[in-house]
Amino acid sequence: MPGFEAVRISGVLKPMSGQYVLALDQGTTSSRALLFDRKGDVIATGRKDFRQIYPRPGWVEHDPEEIWSSQWQAVQDCLFEAGAPLKDIVAIGMANQRETTVVWDRRTGRPIYNAIVWQCRRTAGICDKLRERGLAPAIHEKTGLVIDPYFSGTKVAWILDHVDGARTLAEQGHLAFGTIDSWLIYKLTDGMLHASDYSNASRTLLYNIHDLRWDQDLLAWLEVPTSMCPVVVDSSGVCAQSAEHWFGRPIPIAGIAGDQQAALFGQGCFARGTVKNTYGTGSFLLMNTGEQPLSCDHGILTTIAWGLEGHMTYAIEGSIFVTGAVVQWLRDELKLIDSAQESETLALSVDSSEGVYVVPAFAGLGTPYWDSYARGAIVGLTRGSNRAHIVRAALESIGYQTRDVLEAMIRESGTPPKALRVDGGAIANEFVVQFQADILGLPVERPKVHETTAMGAAFLAGLGVGFWAGLDPLQKIWRPDGLFSPAMDEKTREGLYRGWKKAVGRAMNWLDPDK
Ligand code: ADP
Repeated sequence: MPGFEAVRISGVLKPMSGQYVLALDQGTTSSRALLFDRKGDVIATGRKDFRQIYPRPGWVEHDPEEIWSSQWQAVQDCLFEAGAPLKDIVAIGMANQRETTVVWDRRTGRPIYNAIVWQCRRTAGICDKLRERGLAPAIHEKTGLVIDPYFSGTKVAWILDHVDGARTLAEQGHLAFGTIDSWLIYKLTDGMLHASDYSNASRTLLYNIHDLRWDQDLLAWLEVPTSMCPVVVDSSGVCAQSAEHWFGRPIPIAGIAGDQQAALFGQGCFARGTVKNTYGTGSFLLMNTGEQPLSCDHGILTTIAWGLEGHMTYAIEGSIFVTGAVVQWLRDELKLIDSAQESETLALSVDSSEGVYVVPAFAGLGTPYWDSYARGAIVGLTRGSNRAHIVRAALESIGYQTRDVLEAMIRESGTPPKALRVDGGAIANEFVVQFQADILGLPVERPKVHETTAMGAAFLAGLGVGFWAGLDPLQKIWRPDGLFSPAMDEKTREGLYRGWKKAVGRAMNWLDPDK
């Protein structure tokens, strides 16, 4: 029976002879592996998709064993492509889909239920009860989060309440809970280590981001035994070695972070006030706020960005539900374009959207509105409006929504950023990136390596074994492939943005809550 205590491997590390860091990027729909060299260049990649399980409307699960097997397959494909000798891999880093929750039996190493995915809404009722008990302010104060099914705590509670015998097993100390990083570490170490890093722990609703410990009140309110929780380790530093059989020799696991925090790190946002936005299906903006956790309103979350040698760097976070997905909607539902790339050509075929606004509130609005009754709207149409105007307005909505969040973050932090660093699939669209710079009146920096999440995991791991000597060398590795300067005059910018605010007003509060 393997032990589960933290095996912290300390001491000065020998200079490395090897040349690569292996980054695992375990996402919501695919597991990826990337090999980085010392210059920060990607040498090889592997990718394997895995099943999404939807047992009921609004419920989302993954099979934890499939998460692991897809991750391992991606690693093998990546190493095969690289042809790099295993001895040249100096460290493993990982970035993972956040909040997704696995509960397993320590005696067998087997999950007792599928992983409940961050998107899953099944615990809305548990959240309502917490709110009815008046616990929202205390939970917000301790965790920096809001009560929402999104976070792990209510998912653990649900598994304990719904899987036969789970609560008894948990009380007997047989069950372990972890986010996906914990699960991958557990697998890589053959069950020797049950750990998570500070950034992931801060997304569970069970972790006190001020005291840096699993919080007894939170655990009691959610009826989760402390014994289920992982040991929390630094985001950078050797926390364990992989079991010998995986790579033929042990490799240090030296970097761990939730995917959005990893992207912040991979974007070189090490200084207070630096900020990144990831444009995927939706968007996540994270701003580094330094050593002090800010207490925020408007549903802006406070979270641990990373913990290095026990010192926390905090971030504030805002989320937008629909950004890149508006382009999929134009293509798949409205059939106004054949491909995502075509949206750029069409948008540039007109000088402006001529007063048309698309508000993609398909599933309500996130930061800073938090209106689940909002629905999508196209406003400002005239007889002359054509598909190019609508496509352009849809792309512009990505920029407007980002400004909404960034303005709220600046209000909360009092720190106007000097630039916005961007990543994610939609930054391939130069119209989107230039409009972002124009509507913010702020330079936008696009990195040469678009894989910022994996890069962050690699940075943390490489830093942890001395492959890179500190944050300065990492800062130098980060290179832009484009700097987009604002080119719109202030009058035009503010006029357009006023129109957007009016359009959002039309979309808000659309559904009748009683219906
Ligand atoms: P996720 O990680 O959320 O799956 P990705 O970072 O892979 O997202 O980005 C995919 C998103 O980027 C999709 O929503 C897609 O519509 C959008 N996208 C991809 N290429 C373009 C483009 N040229 N212009 C605008 N959006 C794009």
